[in-house]
Parts: sequence; structure tokens; C-alpha cells
Amino acid sequence: MIFQKYSGMHLCKKHFVEDVERKIKLTIRKEYSIQKNDIIAVALSGGKDSSVALYMMHKILGNRPDIEIVAVSVDEGIHGYRSNSLEVAKNLTKQLGVRHVIWSFKEVHGVTMDELAASEREKGTCSYCGVLRKNILNRAAIEIGATKLVTGHNLDDEAQTILLNHLRGDMERMVRLAPSAAIEGLVLRAKPLRNIPEKEVALYALVNSLPVDFSECPYAGEALRGEVREMLNNFETGHPGTKYSLLRGFDKLVGALAKELPPARIEKCRICGETCTEDVCQACKLLGRA
Ligand code: SF4
Repeated sequence: MIFQKYSGMHLCKKHFVEDVERKIKLTIRKEYSIQKNDIIAVALSGGKDSSVALYMMHKILGNRPDIEIVAVSVDEGIHGYRSNSLEVAKNLTKQLGVRHVIWSFKEVHGVTMDELAASEREKGTCSYCGVLRKNILNRAAIEIGATKLVTGHNLDDEAQTILLNHLRGDMERMVRLAPSAAIEGLVLRAKPLRNIPEKEVALYALVNSLPVDFSECPYAGEALRGEVREMLNNFETGHPGTKYSLLRGFDKLVGALAKELPPARIEKCRICGETCTEDVCQACKLLGRA
């Protein structure tokens, strides 16, 4: 079914599925210890990554009576795109029998992504979308009483972000990328797919016939990330294993880096009360409430 250039292995369907699931279980065991009575919120967009993340969390933990899994979707208000993927997300949660909550930009922030995209703004659309979505996911996870918030970030996402942070010289952000300790007001983030290449996540979704929306957001295209993605894919072709090397290097380095750059003081935003590292949170700043 697949030749993994980075490992030198040719895998049939059965062994490919086993390989992906083994890596995900190992990541969860090593980095995000699951506790008795955990309530796990899974960010679900309906795309391949979050769908595989939800499917796997359900497969691994779904029959533990002491653990609850809740899917959380965010409707950013992107016409012709998000409503389709939300339908796909609903299908998956129905299939799995997982509770599903949907929060929207309009209800929480009073504005849709389409309105923000059409307005005069200082930053790219994805900068607004990312900050506002993170804000909502954290709020939703707190309301659910979640002890962990799972996202579908895969190996490609992680390797791109690590390289981007190097290119920008942004080591504070680099430290924040590491699996963190629990902080009051911020639900612990977990990325069980961080060791699975993007192509394998897509293949895993296909092999398991998961309902997945493969369409692309009309605003996609953060310029620098796009260049980094292309560069890394070219490197991976010529030097298989590059993405894993970046992640391994980061995992070794981040402990030492965190000692040099201790985390910022945690505060409450004076406007909305959300947990953040400054007087006013990023979401309020971007929405011009400051
Ligand atoms: Fe939001 Fe950008 Fe993703 Fe579209 S591509 S959903 S605008 S972050």
C-alpha cells in the first residue's frame, strides 16, 4: 500500500494501519498521560487530520467508562466552505456516537471570518482566524470541563512550524510549541498525530473510509508557511526523514530552551477575562477592543 522512504519499509494495508496506530498510541503514552476521569475535547473541523484524531481517540479510549470524549467544532463563518465540513464532522460524530458541540465566531466574537476578510485589517486572514479559533476552543473546552484538548496537528504541521519559528528567530513561540504543563485557565493541548506524516494521515482516513472533507478554505495561503511547506517537501524527497529530524531536534532542544526562556506570567485579559500572557489577550487586540 505504501513505501515509507524514511523508514525503508514497504507496508501492506494491515501493517500500514498498525504502524500509524502504534505511533499514535506511543505519542499519547509518552507525552500526554491519560488519567482516570479525563474529559477529552477533540477539535473537529471535518478535515482529514482532526477526523483521524477523533477516530483514534475514540478507538483507543472509547470503551473506557471513566473517560469522556467530546468533539468541538468551530464555525468561523466562511461561506461555501465551513458548512460542508461541519456536515461531514456531524456524520463522523454520529457514526462514532460521540457528543458534538459547535461554537461560532459570530456568537462568541460577534463577527464572521467573511466579514473580517472583507474589512480593513493589518494582518493576513489566517492570523485572525487562528487566534480567534484557539480562543473559542479553549473556552469550549473549559465549559465542557475538559482536562485535555486534542488537535489534529500532524508531522508536516509541526515540522513547518518549527522551521518557521527558526526563520523568524522566534524562540518564545518555539518554547510554546512543546507539550506544556497544565495552567489554570488554559486546557492542556495534545497532538497525538504529531509523529504521522500528512500523507499517511490522509491515507489512514481513506483506508478506514472516514467521512472527510478534502476541500480547501478560500482564504488558505499564509505566504511564508506555503514556501516552508514546499521547501520541506522538496527536502523530504531528496533526504527522506528530514521532517522527523526537525521534530526530534526540537524535542531534544526545547527543554534547555525553556530554561533560558521561562514562560511568561499568566494573566487574565482585562477586557474579556480570558487567560493570556499580557494585559489584553490577542483576540481582543485583533478585534480592536483594546
Ligand atoms: Fe482559517 Fe486560514 Fe484555516 Fe481558512 S485557511 S480556516 S482562514 S486559518
